[in-house]
Amino acid sequence: MAAASTLLVLGFQALAQSAPALPDKDRALARDLFKELIETNTQDSDGSVTAAAQKMRQRLLDAGFPAEDLVLAGPNDRKQNLVARYRGKPGSTLKPILTICHLDVVEARKADWTTDPYQFVEKDSYFYGRGTQDIKEEDAALVETFIRMKREGYVPDRDLIIALTADEEGGASNGVSWLLEHRPDLMRAEFVINPDAGGLELRGGKPSEFDVEATEKLYADFEVTATNPGGHSSQPRPDNAIYELVHALAKLEASPFPMELNAVTRGELEAKAKIAARTDPQRAELIRAVLANPPDPVAVAEFSKDPTDNATLRTTCVATMVNAGHARNALPGTAKANVNCRILPGHSQEEIRQKLIQIFSDPKLTVNYVNDAGEVLGPGSAKKSMEPPPEREDVYGPLRGAAEEMWPGVPVVSSMSTGASDSIITMGAGIPSYGVSGMGVDFDDDRAHGRDERIRTEAFYEGVEFRYLFMKALTK
Ligand SMILES: [Zn+2]
Repeated sequence: MAAASTLLVLGFQALAQSAPALPDKDRALARDLFKELIETNTQDSDGSVTAAAQKMRQRLLDAGFPAEDLVLAGPNDRKQNLVARYRGKPGSTLKPILTICHLDVVEARKADWTTDPYQFVEKDSYFYGRGTQDIKEEDAALVETFIRMKREGYVPDRDLIIALTADEEGGASNGVSWLLEHRPDLMRAEFVINPDAGGLELRGGKPSEFDVEATEKLYADFEVTATNPGGHSSQPRPDNAIYELVHALAKLEASPFPMELNAVTRGELEAKAKIAARTDPQRAELIRAVLANPPDPVAVAEFSKDPTDNATLRTTCVATMVNAGHARNALPGTAKANVNCRILPGHSQEEIRQKLIQIFSDPKLTVNYVNDAGEVLGPGSAKKSMEPPPEREDVYGPLRGAAEEMWPGVPVVSSMSTGASDSIITMGAGIPSYGVSGMGVDFDDDRAHGRDERIRTEAFYEGVEFRYLFMKALTK
């Protein structure tokens, strides 16, 4: 009995030792940094990103980083970003690798939580607090990794940069935008890694899939307006603002944007077809017909019936709000609709506005771009979002290596997000950007932006170890 249980224990140890584990010293440091970040309120209404940036800067100073490589920069007192540079081999001709990660968090209301959102609470093998999932665990991992590599005397083959930034979740001072505009010298990079997108998916606490966000759709709102002199409804004129708007929207409904695949969505669909081949052969066949050259139009129409699949294939524009008329017994003077578009990589907001004008083909209508603050601007930006390059070996090689070391056998899957993160800004600046995070989150326990936000303690430590392995693998 004793012999058997000893064997069992040895067996478990062997298993536990097979994956690299964060050393005790780094575990303590990572936890300490994480605690400090969670307990520094960085929400837009009454918090300070600067306070968190300064604390992380001090940690790096204490670890021996020179002050000139730790730049605080931003538009005002509360929104200073930290850009930290880890020097690589002197004379390296390789462009730096930039990792961006926001310091701000979504507003948390204490009354909604069972713990204090700005207290770091460890309970039942979880860390609780605002930002434990989105995305202070990664800010902590990045700073910890810099300090650990420095302590080890590691010299990367090029500079590594981390930018810890403001206002990803909202607010008027997006740090990535601000830095690209005002301090492009700090942000020059071969590619960007963004831990705030993609991620390691857990099922029942076990890693099932490593998602890499390799590209994103671009967001845009357009206001469509019909105007009319109006008048008394007892004597209707032949033209009517509501009818004109409705006719335009009916045309939009009947005019889906054309199917268009890029390197990422093609790979994503190929992977889906392979998975479906085992479980749903009919679906596998359908996807293969969509991927055929030329694509089978009947299959494309069938595939497009699913909203998720449809959003992967094409730019989508959909009416989301209407507002028309002012009285029951008066002809409408104006009729307005908001059309929300999610634009495929390689296209601009202005290009899609022109396309909408063409679809409506009614010169009496105006179609104006509306920015995130709700201001009606007229033309949209003509800047095209970047078409994703094929899976680059200098990113995916190290990524697969580090992921395999941590979680053997877990597949790495690239995808296009139909939502948006700060990567859309760096991609807009022409820098290929990849969402990569090893912080495991249970697929059915995503509490980012929600109440009682939390992360598994072991998932955090594994995520920190992954960040270290990945950063080193990228720069060997
Ligand atoms: Zn985030």
